[in-house]
Amino acid sequence: MQRLLVLGGGTAGTMVANKLRRRLDRADWRITVVDHDDVHLYQPGLLFIPFGNTHPEGIVKPRQQLLHDGVDLVRGEIARVDADANTVILAGGRELPYDQLVIATGVSPRPDQTPGMLGPQWRRSIFDFFTLDGATALKTALDAFDGGRLVVHITDMPIKCPVAPLEFAFLAEAYFRRRGMRDRVEIVFVTPLAGAFTKPIAAEHLGSMLDERKIALESDFLVERIDSDTKTLISYDERQVPFDLLVTVPLNMGADFVARSGLGDELNLVPVDKHTFLSTRYGNIFALGDANNIPTSKAGSVAHFSVEVFAENFCQHIAGRPMTGSFDGHANCFIESGDGKGLLIDFNYDTEPLTGAYPLPVIGPFDLLKQSARNHWGKLAFRWIYWHVLLPGRPIPLPARMSMTGKHQPAKEPQS
Ligand SMILES: Cc1cc2nc3c(=O)[nH]c(=O)nc-3n(C[C@H](O)[C@H](O)[C@H](O)COP(=O)(O)OP(=O)(O)OC[C@H]3O[C@@H](n4cnc5c(N)ncnc54)[C@H](O)[C@@H]3O)c2cc1C
Repeated sequence: MQRLLVLGGGTAGTMVANKLRRRLDRADWRITVVDHDDVHLYQPGLLFIPFGNTHPEGIVKPRQQLLHDGVDLVRGEIARVDADANTVILAGGRELPYDQLVIATGVSPRPDQTPGMLGPQWRRSIFDFFTLDGATALKTALDAFDGGRLVVHITDMPIKCPVAPLEFAFLAEAYFRRRGMRDRVEIVFVTPLAGAFTKPIAAEHLGSMLDERKIALESDFLVERIDSDTKTLISYDERQVPFDLLVTVPLNMGADFVARSGLGDELNLVPVDKHTFLSTRYGNIFALGDANNIPTSKAGSVAHFSVEVFAENFCQHIAGRPMTGSFDGHANCFIESGDGKGLLIDFNYDTEPLTGAYPLPVIGPFDLLKQSARNHWGKLAFRWIYWHVLLPGRPIPLPARMSMTGKHQPAKEPQS
């Protein structure tokens, strides 16, 4: 009996286990998922909690219920991988041997990495919304907010769902208008990037949406520390951004056991081949989802497209054949823009988000980089699709490879 061990039962780990359970013979392969708890969180839902549009109980389910028959769930804190001995060691000492290992332990916000973030203002005037606790506490703070300076802040890249802080700023602007207090709130978007987003065309569209909403953009801001006494963000180049309410995305890092096992980079991300997810050091370790270092967005959509490519490749790999599937970095993401509208972006390693349309049978097409009500409904519908189609590993008419169909090619620079 061969053993496939999947570390992390979140978005990628659940899809990997469920998809491969269908493909691998039960007589030959045992599949085990390890996670430290039994609460699967639908993370895109966290965005809506501070505004009261979603409740915490609506975005969690027991992990066990989401794993197919024939997949074992072990609850425990992963302490270390001994890659030379093909063994995972849990806190408490339990050892789990494996033949093939998939690391899918994602990334987590680490407020402890920025001096002053976890000081006396944490959860008083400094909040995050990347955790269930944080998003819930932020709802109480927003409800009580009576006006002043709201700063929405990204500590450093990469973060999961890099558009989520922008979405938060757009939704906050609409929320204060609804409450009739927009004129009493100054909103500032503070980012380490040179613009509103990583890629030029999207950065221009999203930047002009900040302008239209009178949200100030403070770019190229790399926070060095937070001064709790004066409630100020201070950058390495000594710029200061004061706040009354700070909504920050702390540094996102992979799990500490990755570093302890000598498998990670400086952010505890696992270096892998960007087309196959195979570890650059071990021939029987893969890393999928946010946990790896591939140069595309950290997003549920990427986890989904990755697993599609990986499942086929894995079957070839264990049969001793070369892996023929090649992941192209495909990512797509709905961006809430407030007032019941949203945008969609679709891109990969080589093609930045472009304008145009994203064709999808029955419910599409969706507008790319353009606000529409259909995109907002697409985002809301995604929760159902996540629980009922993606996690169980059912087929979905979304090709893993990015398509240029419907996209507007940018005009070529005239030759001089
Ligand atoms: C606010 C927000 C909004 C988002 N919106 C979108 C969106 O609109 N669209 C989109 O595509 N993506 C979105 N995302 C990103 C998406 O949720 C993640 O990219 C996706 O969940 C990554 O899946 P993963 O399996 O890699 O990691 P996760 O789903 O985070 O799973 C990691 C698992 O590993 C477990 N784990 C970690 N360390 C250990 C350890 N030491 N021991 C045991 N278990 C461990 C965790 O408990 C967890 O279950 C959003 C994320 C956030 C935070």
